[in-house]
Amino acid sequence: QLSKRLETVVNYVPEDAVLADIGSDHAYLPCFAILHRNIKTAIAGEVVKGPFESAKREVRQAGLTNQIDVRFGSGLEVINKGEATCITIAGMGGQLISSILTDGLDKLTGKERLVLQPNVGEYNLRKWLVDHQYSIMDESILREDHKTYEVIVAEKRSQCTDYTEMELFFGPHLMRDKSPVFMEKWNSEKKHLVQVLQSLNQAQVSDQVIEKKSEVTTQLNWIEEVIG
Ligand code: SAM
Repeated sequence: QLSKRLETVVNYVPEDAVLADIGSDHAYLPCFAILHRNIKTAIAGEVVKGPFESAKREVRQAGLTNQIDVRFGSGLEVINKGEATCITIAGMGGQLISSILTDGLDKLTGKERLVLQPNVGEYNLRKWLVDHQYSIMDESILREDHKTYEVIVAEKRSQCTDYTEMELFFGPHLMRDKSPVFMEKWNSEKKHLVQVLQSLNQAQVSDQVIEKKSEVTTQLNWIEEVIG
């Protein structure tokens, strides 16, 4: 049984894909993808010995050593250019995901589908994607174990899509869909930002406080606009 979070990621892996799951930990995602999603083969990449050994054990126990190659190394250095048609990177901060992609730019042909699940820092990751000419093809938001997760699917298209700052902040698809989980996330963020603004109003005025107040006010206005 895969977590709802990883199952949402796997659902975006196309059938017949050659998958590279970077930061695979126990390799649950590639094992599930092979067993239930009809994908061809997979590579599980891990940079830490413990998780690397767990991945190897899991793959062996599932009888999938012919289909899943567990490789030791950082980020995209475990794959050859053009080897994977879909790359999943899940369960890390958006900053780490962006740096894995930046460090691995020479391994990307631009034909791969990227399925990314940042735990935090979604805005910065979307910004990285559009700065590198990716289009955001789809998104999901879900709740599991009292945490909210977002999944971002990106591909390079001949025609680049332009995004507003607001779309990068909320997610272009998520802000259009306005699912109950999305509404819940931004309602609670709104409450949090109102409190932040209250304490900034009581703080001693400085350039930093003024800047922060303006940022928080802009975000609160956006949230009002999107969720009402
Ligand atoms: N992807 C799995 C998931 O979503 O459940 C595991 C997430 S776990 C929190 C993050 C994993 O990424 C860890 O096993 C860690 O060792 C690995 N990791 C962190 N930085 C990495 C890098 N640069 N290259 C490969 N793996 C990395």
